Amino acid sequence: MPETDNQNHVVAVTGASRGIGAAIALELAEAGFTVAALTRQGRGVEQGDRDAETSRNIVPVVCDVADSASVEAAIAEAAALGTLSSLVNNAGIWKGQRSAELSNDDYQLVMDTNARGCFELCRAVYPHFKSNGSGTIINIGSFYDKLGVPGGLAYCASKAAIGAITRCLAVEWARDRIRVLNVAPGFIETDLNASLPDTARDAIRARIPGGEFGSPADVGRLVRALVANDIPFMTGETMYIDGGQGIKE
Ligand code: NAP
Repeated sequence: MPETDNQNHVVAVTGASRGIGAAIALELAEAGFTVAALTRQGRGVEQGDRDAETSRNIVPVVCDVADSASVEAAIAEAAALGTLSSLVNNAGIWKGQRSAELSNDDYQLVMDTNARGCFELCRAVYPHFKSNGSGTIINIGSFYDKLGVPGGLAYCASKAAIGAITRCLAVEWARDRIRVLNVAPGFIETDLNASLPDTARDAIRARIPGGEFGSPADVGRLVRALVANDIPFMTGETMYIDGGQGIKE
């Protein structure tokens, strides 16, 4: 898709207020897409520098991904902005809790936000993508989808579910020319991990081959490339963006 055509195409990005979601929204808006910035507060992208043209391409939409009615209303609003062509399921939460003390409510909140929310957003965009004749869904998973992380049971289960949701939808919807991909980051410095003690940060950094954490902009640039380039044969896959941490011996 040439970048000059992008403005007719609407990309809905969940959790676009800050962190990785904000970086993704800014990259896509800079590429000329109309970005429906789906956030709980409805204030659009709250972090990151941008020029006037990029700002014009961002439209704030209220959406709590854990609330079914809110999801339906937000996708209807996004679809009214133009041709809804892509969805980025980025919103997510982490609740660190030793498994023996993890409550059903906390487990459910993480699963509802990270996994059920993703599924409901995908289901809500499906009729639009089907009638358009194509569509792209990028789910933001995590390299924790395949690791045993102390205190991370709910989060890891939810991110493993993202991989499974991605694979099932990719296979079911391939004939509708809808491609579904899972972008799974390693350690990216955001509010999500800001409270981690320095000792834990140093230990994680030491396991990354390049010795540096990733940035939200790294993930933003990858998602921009995947949305802007139509490669239908690439679908269902999980792409790790973790500085090689996950494959290090
Ligand atoms: P973050 O800075 O904490 O931002 C999380 C975003 O999700 C915020 O925009 C937040 O909105 C939104 N959100 C949370 N619950 C929501 C809900 N119910 N409805 C709508 N939006 C909601 O975290 P981040 O690091 O950017 O994480 C973004 C995604 O990347 C998550 O899926 C996370 O699991 C994934 N990820 C992050 C890392 C990492 O190291 N940072 C690694 C792997 C994967 P509010 O502003 O309203 O709270």
